[in-house]
Amino acid sequence: MTKQERLDQIKADIVTSNVCPDLASTATNLVFGDGNPNAEIVFIGEAPGKQEDEQSLPFVGASGKFLNEMLGSINMRREEIYITNIVKYRPPHNRDPQPDEKAEFLPFLQRQLAIIQPTLVVTLGRHSMTCFLPTAKISEVHGQAKRIQWGIGAVDGSKKSEKIIILPLYHPAAALYNGSMRTVLQQDFSTIPTILTLIRKGK
Ligand code: URA
Repeated sequence: MTKQERLDQIKADIVTSNVCPDLASTATNLVFGDGNPNAEIVFIGEAPGKQEDEQSLPFVGASGKFLNEMLGSINMRREEIYITNIVKYRPPHNRDPQPDEKAEFLPFLQRQLAIIQPTLVVTLGRHSMTCFLPTAKISEVHGQAKRIQWGIGAVDGSKKSEKIIILPLYHPAAALYNGSMRTVLQQDFSTIPTILTLIRKGK
């Protein structure tokens, strides 16, 4: 099976496993993820919003446009990266994803990462960050790449963990209308090429 076929299988498994039936009943579509299955970078947001729910694609609304702009600023295109959310159905009225919803979707995120095997995982916002760094505060760790042990190998049921590198960033939606957070996010984002180079060199 190709990587894309394996990812499609995870998407089908979310439906057949009846994950978060309450969220599924109020959402229009499952928003699984989008982009290059061979991407070096995976971006992980919180949950789909209205436009994402309608189009069944992550980050296509206002935060997505801002994300595209920031990708452009580091000479990257959407087609080069992979993007997903922790929670894959839109929560009603865009409320925060709940801990039990994040927990239910986590094994599927682990399987996605185990297939893509990215060099760098960029979390957008605190909900995504705490999946990897449960006790971290985003105001303290944003922009700092961290090598952690994570259950990325859960795909084969062995629950073995692997080292992955996480870069926690503020969420584009939070930064969109907050000038100082916007500047911080843009500055943190601009370090991505250097971080990738250092990782590739094994530093
Ligand atoms: N915010 C998110 O966290 N994810 C999306 O897909 C869109 C907005």
